[in-house]
Amino acid sequence: MVQVQKSIWLLICFLLSLPIYTESVKLPLRGKYSYLQLDEIQRIFPELSITNNDPIQITSIKGNNKEIRIHVGSSFYVLDGSINKIQLKILSAQGKIFIPPDLVEAILMNLIEYEVFYQFADTNLVLEVRTKDAGKSFLPVKAVVIDAGHGGKDPGTSSNTGKNEKDIALAVANQLYAAIRKTYPEMVVYRIRSDDTFVPLEERSQLANKLLLDVKEAIFISLHCNASLSDKPSGYEIYYLSQTPTTEQARETAILENKILHSNYGHIVANIQSGMMSSLVQRRSRKLASSLDFHLNKGIGRLIPQRGIKKADFSVLRGSLMPAVLIEMGYLSHPKEAVFLESKKVQTRLIKSILQGIKDYGDGKD
Ligand SMILES: [Zn+2]
Repeated sequence: MVQVQKSIWLLICFLLSLPIYTESVKLPLRGKYSYLQLDEIQRIFPELSITNNDPIQITSIKGNNKEIRIHVGSSFYVLDGSINKIQLKILSAQGKIFIPPDLVEAILMNLIEYEVFYQFADTNLVLEVRTKDAGKSFLPVKAVVIDAGHGGKDPGTSSNTGKNEKDIALAVANQLYAAIRKTYPEMVVYRIRSDDTFVPLEERSQLANKLLLDVKEAIFISLHCNASLSDKPSGYEIYYLSQTPTTEQARETAILENKILHSNYGHIVANIQSGMMSSLVQRRSRKLASSLDFHLNKGIGRLIPQRGIKKADFSVLRGSLMPAVLIEMGYLSHPKEAVFLESKKVQTRLIKSILQGIKDYGDGKD
Protein backbone atom coordinates (compact mmCIF):
# COMPACT_ATOMS: atom_id res chain seq x y z
CA MET A 1 0.00 0.00 0.00
CA VAL A 2 2.77 2.37 1.00
CA GLN A 3 4.53 1.42 -2.22
CA VAL A 4 1.44 2.30 -4.32
CA GLN A 5 1.07 5.64 -2.54
CA LYS A 6 4.70 6.33 -3.13
CA SER A 7 4.46 5.69 -6.85
CA ILE A 8 1.32 7.85 -7.14
CA TRP A 9 3.24 10.56 -5.37
CA LEU A 10 6.15 10.14 -7.73
CA LEU A 11 3.80 10.31 -10.69
CA ILE A 12 2.22 13.52 -9.37
CA CYS A 13 5.65 15.03 -8.78
CA PHE A 14 6.71 14.04 -12.27
CA LEU A 15 3.59 15.59 -13.82
CA LEU A 16 4.05 18.78 -11.85
CA SER A 17 7.65 19.00 -12.94
CA LEU A 18 6.79 18.82 -16.64
CA PRO A 19 7.58 22.21 -18.10
CA ILE A 20 4.59 24.14 -19.38
CA TYR A 21 7.06 26.34 -21.18
CA THR A 22 10.11 25.17 -23.01
CA GLU A 23 12.00 28.19 -21.78
CA SER A 24 11.52 30.94 -19.21
CA VAL A 25 14.18 33.59 -18.92
CA LYS A 26 14.79 37.01 -17.49
CA LEU A 27 16.87 39.57 -19.31
CA PRO A 28 18.15 42.61 -17.43
CA LEU A 29 16.65 45.98 -18.33
CA ARG A 30 18.83 49.04 -17.93
CA GLY A 31 18.01 52.51 -16.70
CA LYS A 32 14.81 54.34 -15.98
CA TYR A 33 13.42 53.62 -19.44
CA SER A 34 14.00 49.87 -19.43
CA TYR A 35 16.47 49.52 -22.28
CA LEU A 36 17.57 46.07 -23.38
CA GLN A 37 20.98 45.20 -24.75
CA LEU A 38 20.40 43.95 -28.29
CA ASP A 39 22.90 41.06 -27.97
CA GLU A 40 20.86 39.66 -25.07
CA ILE A 41 17.82 39.10 -27.22
CA GLN A 42 19.90 37.22 -29.77
CA ARG A 43 21.23 34.98 -27.03
CA ILE A 44 17.64 33.82 -26.41
CA PHE A 45 16.67 33.72 -30.08
CA PRO A 46 19.81 32.54 -31.90
CA GLU A 47 17.84 32.31 -35.15
CA LEU A 48 17.89 36.11 -35.32
CA SER A 49 20.66 37.38 -37.50
CA ILE A 50 22.14 40.71 -36.48
CA THR A 51 24.59 42.45 -38.77
CA ASN A 52 26.18 45.85 -38.46
CA ASN A 53 27.10 47.89 -41.44
CA ASP A 54 29.84 50.04 -39.95
CA PRO A 55 30.34 52.70 -42.61
CA ILE A 56 26.66 53.72 -42.59
CA GLN A 57 26.00 52.55 -39.02
CA ILE A 58 22.83 50.69 -39.85
CA THR A 59 22.12 47.54 -37.89
CA SER A 60 20.00 44.92 -39.59
CA ILE A 61 18.04 42.38 -37.53
CA LYS A 62 16.54 39.52 -39.53
CA GLY A 63 14.17 36.72 -38.62
CA ASN A 64 10.91 35.12 -39.77
CA ASN A 65 11.67 36.33 -43.32
CA LYS A 66 11.44 39.92 -42.16
CA GLU A 67 13.99 42.61 -41.48
CA ILE A 68 14.17 45.46 -38.99
CA ARG A 69 16.82 48.10 -39.61
CA ILE A 70 17.93 50.46 -36.88
CA HIS A 71 20.36 53.31 -36.44
CA VAL A 72 21.92 54.34 -33.13
CA GLY A 73 20.66 57.78 -32.08
CA SER A 74 17.45 57.47 -34.07
CA SER A 75 13.90 57.09 -32.73
CA PHE A 76 12.69 55.28 -35.83
CA TYR A 77 13.07 51.78 -37.16
CA VAL A 78 12.41 50.41 -40.61
CA LEU A 79 10.40 47.19 -40.87
CA ASP A 80 10.47 45.69 -44.35
CA GLY A 81 10.80 49.12 -45.89
CA SER A 82 8.20 50.97 -43.81
CA ILE A 83 9.26 53.56 -41.24
CA ASN A 84 7.98 53.29 -37.68
CA LYS A 85 8.33 55.81 -34.88
CA ILE A 86 9.36 54.71 -31.40
CA GLN A 87 9.12 56.66 -28.16
CA LEU A 88 12.83 56.70 -27.29
CA LYS A 89 16.14 56.79 -29.12
CA ILE A 90 18.25 53.73 -29.79
CA LEU A 91 21.43 54.08 -27.74
CA SER A 92 24.91 52.64 -27.71
CA ALA A 93 27.52 52.32 -25.00
CA GLN A 94 30.87 50.53 -25.01
CA GLY A 95 30.23 49.12 -28.44
CA LYS A 96 26.87 47.62 -27.46
CA ILE A 97 23.48 48.64 -28.80
CA PHE A 98 20.63 49.28 -26.35
CA ILE A 99 17.03 49.28 -27.56
CA PRO A 100 13.86 50.70 -25.91
CA PRO A 101 10.79 48.57 -25.01
CA ASP A 102 8.73 49.35 -28.13
CA LEU A 103 11.54 48.13 -30.36
CA VAL A 104 11.85 44.96 -28.27
CA GLU A 105 8.12 44.45 -28.79
CA ALA A 106 8.48 45.00 -32.55
CA ILE A 107 11.24 42.37 -32.73
CA LEU A 108 9.21 39.80 -30.77
CA MET A 109 6.05 40.44 -32.79
CA ASN A 110 7.61 40.48 -36.23
CA LEU A 111 10.89 38.62 -36.27
CA ILE A 112 10.04 35.64 -34.06
CA GLU A 113 7.72 33.29 -35.85
CA TYR A 114 6.43 31.35 -32.84
CA GLU A 115 4.58 32.46 -29.73
CA VAL A 116 6.55 34.27 -27.04
CA PHE A 117 5.02 35.50 -23.80
CA TYR A 118 6.72 38.56 -22.45
CA GLN A 119 6.45 41.24 -19.82
CA PHE A 120 8.44 44.31 -18.95
CA ALA A 121 8.82 43.90 -15.20
CA ASP A 122 10.74 46.36 -12.99
CA THR A 123 14.29 45.47 -13.87
CA ASN A 124 13.79 42.49 -16.15
CA LEU A 125 12.21 41.47 -19.38
CA VAL A 126 10.56 38.13 -18.64
CA LEU A 127 10.28 35.82 -21.64
CA GLU A 128 8.51 32.49 -21.92
CA VAL A 129 8.56 30.50 -25.10
CA ARG A 130 5.62 28.20 -25.66
CA THR A 131 5.10 25.87 -28.56
CA LYS A 132 7.45 26.55 -31.40
CA ASP A 133 5.01 25.28 -33.99
CA ALA A 134 2.54 28.12 -33.51
CA GLY A 135 2.42 30.94 -36.00
CA LYS A 136 2.70 29.11 -39.28
CA SER A 137 -0.88 28.64 -40.29
CA PHE A 138 -3.78 30.37 -41.96
CA LEU A 139 -6.02 32.44 -39.76
CA PRO A 140 -9.49 31.00 -40.02
CA VAL A 141 -12.16 32.79 -38.03
CA LYS A 142 -14.74 30.44 -36.60
CA ALA A 143 -16.08 32.69 -33.87
CA VAL A 144 -16.48 36.40 -33.32
CA VAL A 145 -16.97 38.02 -29.94
CA ILE A 146 -18.67 41.40 -30.21
CA ASP A 147 -18.17 43.70 -27.27
CA ALA A 148 -20.38 46.77 -27.12
CA GLY A 149 -18.41 49.20 -24.96
CA HIS A 150 -19.77 50.46 -21.61
CA GLY A 151 -23.44 49.84 -20.67
CA GLY A 152 -25.78 50.19 -17.74
CA LYS A 153 -24.43 52.59 -15.11
CA ASP A 154 -21.46 53.38 -17.36
CA PRO A 155 -22.65 55.54 -20.30
CA GLY A 156 -19.17 56.17 -21.73
CA THR A 157 -18.81 59.48 -23.54
CA SER A 158 -21.68 61.50 -24.95
CA SER A 159 -22.42 63.96 -27.73
CA ASN A 160 -23.59 67.51 -27.04
CA THR A 161 -27.05 66.39 -28.16
CA GLY A 162 -27.02 63.93 -25.26
CA LYS A 163 -26.48 60.72 -27.20
CA ASN A 164 -24.48 58.18 -25.18
CA GLU A 165 -21.57 56.09 -26.38
CA LYS A 166 -23.05 52.97 -24.75
CA ASP A 167 -26.17 53.22 -26.95
CA ILE A 168 -24.30 53.74 -30.21
CA ALA A 169 -21.90 50.91 -29.39
CA LEU A 170 -24.86 48.64 -28.62
CA ALA A 171 -26.74 49.57 -31.79
CA VAL A 172 -23.70 48.80 -33.95
CA ALA A 173 -22.93 45.61 -31.98
CA ASN A 174 -26.44 44.24 -32.36
CA GLN A 175 -26.55 44.98 -36.08
CA LEU A 176 -23.09 43.46 -36.55
CA TYR A 177 -24.29 40.37 -34.69
CA ALA A 178 -27.29 40.02 -37.02
CA ALA A 179 -25.15 40.66 -40.11
CA ILE A 180 -22.58 37.99 -39.22
CA ARG A 181 -25.31 35.45 -38.47
CA LYS A 182 -26.89 36.16 -41.83
CA THR A 183 -23.69 36.29 -43.91
CA TYR A 184 -21.73 33.53 -42.17
CA PRO A 185 -24.29 31.19 -40.62
CA GLU A 186 -21.56 28.65 -39.83
CA MET A 187 -19.76 31.13 -37.58
CA VAL A 188 -20.24 31.30 -33.81
CA VAL A 189 -21.14 34.84 -32.76
CA TYR A 190 -21.21 35.92 -29.15
CA ARG A 191 -22.22 39.25 -27.66
CA ILE A 192 -20.73 40.41 -24.37
CA ARG A 193 -23.94 42.37 -23.86
CA SER A 194 -27.07 42.52 -25.99
CA ASP A 195 -28.90 45.13 -23.94
CA ASP A 196 -28.19 48.03 -21.62
CA THR A 197 -26.37 46.08 -18.90
CA PHE A 198 -23.14 46.86 -17.11
CA VAL A 199 -20.38 44.28 -17.57
CA PRO A 200 -17.05 44.95 -15.77
CA LEU A 201 -14.11 45.42 -18.14
CA GLU A 202 -12.06 42.44 -16.96
CA GLU A 203 -15.09 40.20 -17.11
CA ARG A 204 -15.52 40.89 -20.82
CA SER A 205 -12.34 39.11 -21.93
CA GLN A 206 -13.11 36.35 -19.42
CA LEU A 207 -16.49 35.76 -21.03
CA ALA A 208 -14.81 35.76 -24.43
CA ASN A 209 -12.08 33.34 -23.36
CA LYS A 210 -14.69 30.80 -22.28
CA LEU A 211 -15.60 30.45 -25.93
CA LEU A 212 -12.12 29.13 -26.65
CA LEU A 213 -13.01 25.90 -24.86
CA ASP A 214 -15.20 25.10 -27.87
CA VAL A 215 -13.74 27.13 -30.72
CA LYS A 216 -10.05 27.89 -31.01
CA GLU A 217 -10.19 30.37 -33.88
CA ALA A 218 -12.01 33.28 -32.30
CA ILE A 219 -11.52 37.02 -32.49
CA PHE A 220 -12.66 39.81 -30.18
CA ILE A 221 -13.94 43.18 -31.39
CA SER A 222 -14.73 45.93 -28.90
CA LEU A 223 -16.80 48.88 -30.16
CA HIS A 224 -16.45 52.40 -28.76
CA CYS A 225 -16.72 56.09 -29.56
CA ASN A 226 -14.02 58.57 -28.72
CA ALA A 227 -14.27 62.03 -27.14
CA SER A 228 -12.06 65.02 -26.65
CA LEU A 229 -12.33 68.22 -24.65
CA SER A 230 -12.16 70.12 -27.91
CA ASP A 231 -14.81 69.65 -30.62
CA LYS A 232 -12.12 69.59 -33.33
CA PRO A 233 -10.66 66.03 -33.29
CA SER A 234 -12.44 63.62 -35.59
CA GLY A 235 -11.93 60.21 -37.13
CA TYR A 236 -11.92 56.53 -36.31
CA GLU A 237 -8.97 54.57 -34.99
CA ILE A 238 -8.25 50.94 -34.22
CA TYR A 239 -6.25 49.76 -31.25
CA TYR A 240 -4.54 46.57 -30.26
CA LEU A 241 -3.01 45.74 -26.91
CA SER A 242 0.49 46.80 -26.02
CA GLN A 243 2.51 47.79 -22.97
CA THR A 244 4.10 50.55 -25.03
CA PRO A 245 1.44 53.01 -26.27
CA THR A 246 1.92 54.56 -29.71
CA THR A 247 1.49 58.17 -28.59
CA GLU A 248 0.43 60.29 -25.64
CA GLN A 249 -3.03 60.53 -27.21
CA ALA A 250 -3.21 56.72 -27.38
CA ARG A 251 -2.33 56.61 -23.68
CA GLU A 252 -5.07 59.14 -22.90
CA THR A 253 -7.69 57.21 -24.87
CA ALA A 254 -6.74 54.09 -22.92
CA ILE A 255 -7.05 55.95 -19.61
CA LEU A 256 -10.50 57.19 -20.65
CA GLU A 257 -11.66 53.73 -21.64
CA ASN A 258 -10.13 52.05 -18.57
CA LYS A 259 -11.94 54.32 -16.11
CA ILE A 260 -14.48 51.82 -14.81
CA LEU A 261 -12.20 49.37 -13.10
CA HIS A 262 -13.57 48.44 -9.71
CA SER A 263 -14.84 44.97 -10.32
CA ASN A 264 -12.17 42.80 -8.67
CA TYR A 265 -12.41 40.04 -11.18
CA GLY A 266 -9.71 37.83 -9.78
CA HIS A 267 -9.13 34.73 -11.82
CA ILE A 268 -7.73 35.57 -15.21
CA VAL A 269 -5.48 32.94 -16.73
CA ALA A 270 -2.18 33.07 -14.84
CA ASN A 271 0.02 34.36 -17.63
CA ILE A 272 -2.25 37.16 -18.64
CA GLN A 273 -3.03 38.15 -15.07
CA SER A 274 0.65 38.54 -14.34
CA GLY A 275 0.82 40.96 -17.24
CA MET A 276 2.44 38.64 -19.76
CA MET A 277 1.64 39.39 -23.38
CA SER A 278 1.66 36.91 -26.23
CA SER A 279 3.63 38.03 -29.28
CA LEU A 280 1.46 35.81 -31.47
CA VAL A 281 -1.88 37.14 -30.22
CA GLN A 282 -0.43 40.61 -30.58
CA ARG A 283 0.73 40.00 -34.13
CA ARG A 284 -2.65 38.60 -35.11
CA SER A 285 -4.44 41.47 -33.37
CA ARG A 286 -2.44 43.95 -35.40
CA LYS A 287 -3.24 42.00 -38.55
CA LEU A 288 -6.93 42.10 -37.71
CA ALA A 289 -6.64 45.83 -36.99
CA SER A 290 -5.00 46.50 -40.32
CA SER A 291 -7.55 44.48 -42.25
CA LEU A 292 -10.43 46.30 -40.50
CA ASP A 293 -8.71 49.63 -41.03
CA PHE A 294 -8.38 49.05 -44.77
CA HIS A 295 -12.09 48.30 -45.19
CA LEU A 296 -13.32 50.96 -42.78
CA ASN A 297 -11.34 53.53 -44.70
CA LYS A 298 -12.95 52.36 -47.92
CA GLY A 299 -16.42 52.25 -46.39
CA ILE A 300 -16.62 55.32 -44.15
CA GLY A 301 -13.29 57.12 -44.62
CA ARG A 302 -14.88 60.00 -46.51
CA LEU A 303 -17.27 60.70 -43.64
CA ILE A 304 -15.17 59.66 -40.66
CA PRO A 305 -11.48 60.02 -41.48
CA GLN A 306 -8.89 57.35 -40.79
CA ARG A 307 -6.61 58.11 -37.83
CA GLY A 308 -4.60 54.92 -38.07
CA ILE A 309 -3.80 51.79 -36.13
CA LYS A 310 -2.47 52.36 -32.66
CA LYS A 311 -1.42 50.35 -29.65
CA ALA A 312 -2.28 51.01 -26.02
CA ASP A 313 -2.95 49.25 -22.75
CA PHE A 314 -6.72 48.72 -22.69
CA SER A 315 -8.15 46.79 -19.75
CA VAL A 316 -10.81 45.23 -21.93
CA LEU A 317 -8.19 43.74 -24.28
CA ARG A 318 -5.66 42.82 -21.59
CA GLY A 319 -7.07 39.45 -20.60
CA SER A 320 -7.91 38.27 -24.09
CA LEU A 321 -6.37 35.00 -25.20
CA MET A 322 -7.51 35.63 -28.77
CA PRO A 323 -6.70 38.33 -31.30
CA ALA A 324 -8.50 41.40 -30.03
CA VAL A 325 -9.03 44.95 -31.24
CA LEU A 326 -10.85 48.01 -29.99
CA ILE A 327 -12.46 50.28 -32.57
CA GLU A 328 -13.02 53.91 -31.67
CA MET A 329 -15.61 54.48 -34.38
CA GLY A 330 -15.39 58.26 -34.25
CA TYR A 331 -15.59 61.30 -31.99
CA LEU A 332 -18.89 62.03 -30.25
CA SER A 333 -17.40 65.38 -29.22
CA HIS A 334 -17.23 66.35 -32.91
CA PRO A 335 -20.71 67.68 -33.77
CA LYS A 336 -20.84 66.42 -37.35
CA GLU A 337 -19.29 63.08 -36.56
CA ALA A 338 -21.75 62.57 -33.69
CA VAL A 339 -24.57 62.84 -36.24
CA PHE A 340 -22.83 60.30 -38.50
CA LEU A 341 -22.34 57.87 -35.65
CA GLU A 342 -26.03 58.04 -34.77
CA SER A 343 -27.11 57.57 -38.39
CA LYS A 344 -28.44 54.14 -39.36
CA LYS A 345 -27.01 54.58 -42.84
CA VAL A 346 -23.48 55.20 -41.56
CA GLN A 347 -23.82 52.38 -39.04
CA THR A 348 -24.75 50.01 -41.87
CA ARG A 349 -21.63 51.03 -43.79
CA LEU A 350 -19.54 50.56 -40.67
CA ILE A 351 -20.89 47.06 -40.26
CA LYS A 352 -20.31 46.12 -43.90
CA SER A 353 -16.71 47.29 -43.59
CA ILE A 354 -16.17 45.34 -40.38
CA LEU A 355 -17.58 42.20 -42.05
CA GLN A 356 -15.19 42.64 -44.97
CA GLY A 357 -12.30 43.21 -42.59
CA ILE A 358 -13.07 40.01 -40.69
CA LYS A 359 -13.27 38.07 -43.95
CA ASP A 360 -9.97 39.40 -45.25
CA TYR A 361 -8.22 38.65 -41.98
CA GLY A 362 -9.57 35.10 -42.08
CA ASP A 363 -8.35 34.63 -45.64
CA GLY A 364 -4.84 35.76 -44.78
CA LYS A 365 -1.79 33.89 -43.56
CA ASP A 366 -0.11 34.36 -40.21
ZN1 LIG B 1 -15.56 53.73 -24.73
